[in-house]
Amino acid sequence: MTAFARRNGVLHAESVSLIDLAARFGTPCWVYSRAALEASLAEFERELAGLDALVCYAVKANSNLAVLDVFARRGAGFDIVSGGELRRALAAGADPRRIVFSGVGKTAAEMELALAADILCFNVESAPELDRLSAVAGRLGKTAPISLRVNPDVDAKTHPYISTGLKENKFGVAYEEALALYRHAASLPNLTISGIDCHIGSQLLDPAPFAAALDKILTLVDQLAANGIVLHHIDLGGGLGIRYRDEDAPTVQAYLQPMLQKLRDRHLQVLLEPGRRLVGNAGLLLTRVEYLKPGEVKNFAIVDAAMNDLARPALYGSWHDIVPVVAPQGATRPWEIVGPVCESGDFLGHGRDLALATGDLLAIMSAGAYGMAMSSNYNSRPRAAEVMVDGADVHLVRRRETAEELYALEQRLP
Ligand SMILES: *Cc1c(COP(=O)(O)O)cnc(C)c1O
Repeated sequence: MTAFARRNGVLHAESVSLIDLAARFGTPCWVYSRAALEASLAEFERELAGLDALVCYAVKANSNLAVLDVFARRGAGFDIVSGGELRRALAAGADPRRIVFSGVGKTAAEMELALAADILCFNVESAPELDRLSAVAGRLGKTAPISLRVNPDVDAKTHPYISTGLKENKFGVAYEEALALYRHAASLPNLTISGIDCHIGSQLLDPAPFAAALDKILTLVDQLAANGIVLHHIDLGGGLGIRYRDEDAPTVQAYLQPMLQKLRDRHLQVLLEPGRRLVGNAGLLLTRVEYLKPGEVKNFAIVDAAMNDLARPALYGSWHDIVPVVAPQGATRPWEIVGPVCESGDFLGHGRDLALATGDLLAIMSAGAYGMAMSSNYNSRPRAAEVMVDGADVHLVRRRETAEELYALEQRLP
């Protein structure tokens, strides 16, 4: 799937030139490819064909309504982590019976909202959350379907900020305590035990920790069955990695087949919660070079996108490919690609060998996941427009914010 490729030297999104998109919508601007979104979902659909399985897209990776709409139309479910994401998913046409609700801090109000919507499952992350959910459901005269997020204590070997399956993480319940907690859940009114889930981290490039986690979870599934607690589904979480630079990201098949083998004859519905894998390489951030400041020690290219738009480089030291929209000519030199925000950490790339001129358009690749979703208004910068390309069609799926909108909720003193 080459959603973004050069035609006559100019980078295109599907059939649309990025020069045209910049002229029409300005920069910085997020550009998504519908075909790429559909192709990444189709990779999962192929592996899961004929199985009782559901892909629940992790909304937090990119929560634009149009992105959710593309997945909802193909029958995907959604993994949400807040009441806001629930409202978004419903607004995008999601089937609530295909929504699972993850997160360590669900409020009573969020639980009420999700119970009223009749979602598929609450992925519960602590004992007090079980008690609260039981009470809230009782108040509404409802029964809450639950799964416990179990922490399998495997090392996913990823960035510490995005590793979630170790004992020291805030997520999930300890493996050793899971059986007792399931028993406690079974004793509570207004809950029905539906499944078990885990999510061990993000941007995982090795299928082995997934399989190791599943082995531990299946041991627990058997212990639960021996205790009369029979589960309906197993949710393997998300975390499948993508290629940003030269990583060997396994195919979806390579991730899933070892797990699906272990699940054969288990009579468990399989849920998955991929986020990054579905959207990461389906989006880019289009930006323009404002100023060049070549120097003795470093050469700075100041672009109109910044850390408030794409936080990943500043936050995790992430590497994103940065490519010129028009095929480059002339001598290259190493450039620090930086934004206008008043922080030294405001960089998008270090030491990139490029031939740059003021006014050039650059595409920051692999920006579809945790890009716009993590953007902020720091420095009172309006968030960028989002555009979805579909063949030769272009849809503005979120217009650029205005400066006035940024302070519209504020008041001067009386
Ligand atoms: C963030 C998250 C995901 C998605 O992670 P990706 O690495 O984007 O696939 C899935 N499930 C849970 C519970 C999460 O917190």
